[in-house]
Amino acid sequence: MNLFIRALFFVYLVLTLASCAKPKSQKDCGFVQNVYGERVSWKQDVPIHLYLHTSIPSAWEKAIRTAADTWNQAYGRELLIIEPNRVGGEAPARDGMNVIYLMSTWEAERASEQARTSLYWVGDQIQEADIRINGQNYQFYSSDVSVNTNVQAVSVESLLIHELGHVIGLRHNDAAPSVMATYLQSNHDRNVLQAADTSNLKCEY
Ligand SMILES: [Zn+2]
Repeated sequence: MNLFIRALFFVYLVLTLASCAKPKSQKDCGFVQNVYGERVSWKQDVPIHLYLHTSIPSAWEKAIRTAADTWNQAYGRELLIIEPNRVGGEAPARDGMNVIYLMSTWEAERASEQARTSLYWVGDQIQEADIRINGQNYQFYSSDVSVNTNVQAVSVESLLIHELGHVIGLRHNDAAPSVMATYLQSNHDRNVLQAADTSNLKCEY
């Protein structure tokens, strides 16, 4: 009985805190939204600094920087900075750093994923983003590597434009031409932001 009363009290407290905050629901503009319907983004906390993990081939660096610059050009100034120094360390974790990893192993039940971006936020403010690239189930090409057309491979630049879109807070967009469309074909470049992408970016940033 004692435990039951304590459980009720806890729920009551949470509800009281939630009703004090009174956040306003917003138009989504293609962004992830929190439980209150607010857009989740980095707000004024830009540019976003990202680090390449030592698992990322150096031949990919140029393509990754080009992908970041594609968003920066649409923004009109630096939104995403790929830092020059590499980070090592263990598996991706919430560690206060935004890191891009190439993973040599991937969950078998999620083998169809080319990559995954994890966002950590508090309220409507993103605090960290990590990108994992699926190196177990996919091959990749960058502009620095000649493409063997007999091999199904994913464009590093196109993939990173999409994942960096998730980093800034965008979710999938299959309703209009967009770099945030869910599926990226192999041996296919999708390196140009579409009207929906730039208007969504400017809606929030
Ligand atoms: Zn995606």
